[in-house]
Amino acid sequence: MKIAVVGTGYVGLVTGTCFSETGNNVTCIDIDESKVEKLKNGIIPIYEPGLDVLFERNVKQDRLHFTTNLKEGIEGAEIIFLALPTPPGEDGSADLQYVLKVADDLGPLLKQYTIIIDKSTVPVGTAEKVHNAIAKNAKVDFDVVSNPEFLREGVAVEDFMKPDRVVVGTESEKAKKTMERLYAPLVRQGNPIIFMDERSAELTKYAANSFLATKITFMNEIANLCELLGADVDAVRRGVGTDSRIGKRFLFAGIGYGGSCFPKDVQALAKSAKDVNYDFRILNGVMDINQKQKTKLIPSIKDYFNGDLKGKKIAIWGLAFKPYTDDIREAPALYNIEELIKEGAEVSVFDPEAMENVKGIMGDKITYAEDQYSVLEDADALMIVTEWPVFRTPDFNRMDSLLNNKVIFDGRNLYELSSMEELGYEYFSIGRKSVK
Ligand code: NAD
Repeated sequence: MKIAVVGTGYVGLVTGTCFSETGNNVTCIDIDESKVEKLKNGIIPIYEPGLDVLFERNVKQDRLHFTTNLKEGIEGAEIIFLALPTPPGEDGSADLQYVLKVADDLGPLLKQYTIIIDKSTVPVGTAEKVHNAIAKNAKVDFDVVSNPEFLREGVAVEDFMKPDRVVVGTESEKAKKTMERLYAPLVRQGNPIIFMDERSAELTKYAANSFLATKITFMNEIANLCELLGADVDAVRRGVGTDSRIGKRFLFAGIGYGGSCFPKDVQALAKSAKDVNYDFRILNGVMDINQKQKTKLIPSIKDYFNGDLKGKKIAIWGLAFKPYTDDIREAPALYNIEELIKEGAEVSVFDPEAMENVKGIMGDKITYAEDQYSVLEDADALMIVTEWPVFRTPDFNRMDSLLNNKVIFDGRNLYELSSMEELGYEYFSIGRKSVK
C-alpha cells in the first residue's frame, strides 16, 4: 500500500517506519525543514531504541521517504495518517489547530478515494470536524478513521509492531477492510483489532491514559501516607500488585508522571467533561496531586541543608520524563531544577539521552556533565529523577570520593534501604523510611 504520514515526530516517525517495515511504501511529511533534512540524510532526530535498524533498512530499500511538501507527499496514497501535535490550549482542551489545518489543506489535494486516519490523541468529535474540514474542498470520496496510538516512548517500536490491541473507530466497511489489511501483520499473534464508532475510539485513548495516570497517582498517595504512618510503599506495592485484579504494573511510587501524553490527556479529558457539565472529580485530584508530587523532595533537600540552599551544589541524575527516551516534555526534572535554582542552589545534571533537549530550554542556567560520575564532583547532594538502569547499580565507592556529603534524594526508589544503611549513605526516597 502507498501510505503518507503527516507529522514526523515520535508517533509519526515510528508509524511510518514500522509500516514500511511491513512492506508498504511510506512518505513521511513534516513542516519542520531541519527535521526533514536530517531524516533525508539518514539522521533520526529522536532517541527511540531499535528505530535505527528499521529506519536504515527501509530507507535503503526505498520504501521510506521524507518531504516537507504535503502535495508531493500524499501523491497516490491510499492512506494518510495524521500524527500531528495536539498540545493543551490555554483552557486545558486539546488544541486542534495543527490537525484541522492539515485537514483544510488536504481537501483540494485528494485525487482518489483516500482514508484519512487520525492517529493524534484528539477529543471526541474530532473525526467529524476533520471530515467537515476536508469535505469543504474535496472532489473525491474519502473516509476519516479514528485510530488512536498506544505506543510508549522508549519501547515504541516493540509496542507498534506487537500492539496489545488496535483500536479503530469507523463505520465505513470499505475503510474497515483496508485497516484490517494494514494491521494484519502486526496482530498475527491474535491480539485484537477492536472496531467501534469514531467517538468511542477517541474516548478510549483518553480513558486509557487517564486511568494509567490515576493508577500512578493513587500509588503516590499511598506512598505519601506510608511516610506518615511508618509503612513501606514497596512492601505495600508487592502486596497489592499480586492481586490479579490490580496487576503489578504501574504501581511504582515516585515523583510524579510527566511526558507529552499523560499530563495533557488528563487535562483534556477533564476539560471535555466540563464542557458537557460533568465534573470529573477524580481527574482534578490526579492533576493536583501529580503537580505537587513532582517537587516532593525539595522540602527534604531544604531541611537537610537547614532551610538554606544558597550556593549548595545539587547534582541530578536523569532528565528525561522516563528512561529510554530523550523526551523532556513535562519532565519532573525541569520542575525540580527550577525550584532548586529559585532557592539559590547550583545545579549540575547528567542524563544518558536528554542533555541536548534540556540545554535548549535551560541554557547556561545549569551545568551539564559528561557522565554520571563527573556530575558528582564537588556536589553537596545527589538527586535522582529518572530511573535509567545505568543508575541502578553505580560504583558507590567512586561516588563517595566525589560527593561532598554522602546523601541521596531518590525520586524513583532505586536502592534498598538496607544497602544504603550499610554503605553509610543518608537516603531519602518516596514512601519509605528515611535512612539518616
Ligand atoms: P511531536 O511533537 O513529536 O510530532 C509532531 C510533528 O508534527 C512535529 O514534527 C511537527 O513539526 C509536525 N507538524 C506540525 N504541524 C505540521 C503540519 N502542518 N504539517 C506537517 N507536520 C506538522 O508529537 P508526537 O509525540 O509524535 O505526538 C503526536 C500525537 O500523537 C499527539 O496527539 C500525541 O498526543 C499523540 N501520541 C503521542 C504519543 C507519544 O508517546 N509521544 C503516544 C501516543 C499518542
